[in-house]
Amino acid sequence: MEIELKQVPVKNVFDGYKDMDEAGVVGYQGQLNIRPPYQRNFVYDLPEEKAVINTALHGFPLNVMYWVIDDDEHYEVLDGQQRTLSIMRFLDHKFPIEWDGQTMYVDALPNDLYERLMNYQLMVYWCKGTDSEKLSWFKTVNIAGKKLTSQELRNIAYVGPWLSDAKRHFSKRGCVAAKVSDHYVKGDPNRQELLEKALLWIADAKDTTIEEYMAEHKSDDDANELWQYWQKIMDWIRMTFPQVYKEMNGLDWGTLYNKYHSNDYNSSKIDADIQKLIDDDEIKKKKGIWQYKLAVNANEAGATKYLNLRGFPKDMMRKKYKEQEGHCPMCLEEGNDKMYQLSEMEGDHITPWSEGGRTEEDNLQMLCKRHNRMKSNH
Ligand SMILES: [Zn+2]
Repeated sequence: MEIELKQVPVKNVFDGYKDMDEAGVVGYQGQLNIRPPYQRNFVYDLPEEKAVINTALHGFPLNVMYWVIDDDEHYEVLDGQQRTLSIMRFLDHKFPIEWDGQTMYVDALPNDLYERLMNYQLMVYWCKGTDSEKLSWFKTVNIAGKKLTSQELRNIAYVGPWLSDAKRHFSKRGCVAAKVSDHYVKGDPNRQELLEKALLWIADAKDTTIEEYMAEHKSDDDANELWQYWQKIMDWIRMTFPQVYKEMNGLDWGTLYNKYHSNDYNSSKIDADIQKLIDDDEIKKKKGIWQYKLAVNANEAGATKYLNLRGFPKDMMRKKYKEQEGHCPMCLEEGNDKMYQLSEMEGDHITPWSEGGRTEEDNLQMLCKRHNRMKSNH
């Protein structure tokens, strides 16, 4: 990792400045990505923008900025975006400042002030290194006043055509990825949370990591593979579980898709079953219902663990323990009349929940731990 402190005059950044809206903002003869495409997070308000100009006109220092250099000698602003944009926007006649009691746009500035602003030196750290070096450096360096999400950091490290296309689908409010995953996936596209989820899931499917996936694809022309994968997950959810419930929002859908999507499903039966499960107050974890159905369909043992079923209350179990005088009925059947401590026994549903048994006193027996495990495991 090379890090070099440079002084960059404002006029060099303004040279070739272009605000292309959705397609990003560039400067420095088009070589500096001031705001990457499909990311709209300019959050300074007007007084803050004006304060930046006044600071520069007085010749006071602005905090140091960071630019990241990629392989093709292009630069991206890692830290300093809002200060840079404020200066560019003022030079671009977007807002006036107050100076000596007058309100002035840039074209009304006296020559000496205009020159002072154009020659103002920005202090910039230029950072150069491999993608993974950049990523680990971004994670450790304390970038002033900025809390970047883990995916925002990755997006700075792995720039390229693949990322621009991925952002087009996943990275702004109202983006197509958010539209098709409405009701199923939570996350703020602006903070790159949808992109991160898509990458997490596709990495899981390919048995790799997000970083490795991004490194492998960063020079691809587009992110079609990722986008199509996302759509497949969403189509699969709609076809398998036609009825939408609020509990479905935010489930780990990609992981479920990776694990279960090749199985066959009878969706109308699943819908009817889920309606019953939703109304079943023996189930404490309603969000586990979908994974439970998928696991049962795949003949997995112990699928009820996803539901966090109600247990018997302590006083009910103590009462039953006394009635059984400390004996385990299954041990008795084996000719073993050992007396157990209460702490050595567990409450068992005589008729299991899956066969309609309820968590009620007449469906309770106390079993020794060994027999209770044996019973619940088949
Ligand atoms: Zn026993």
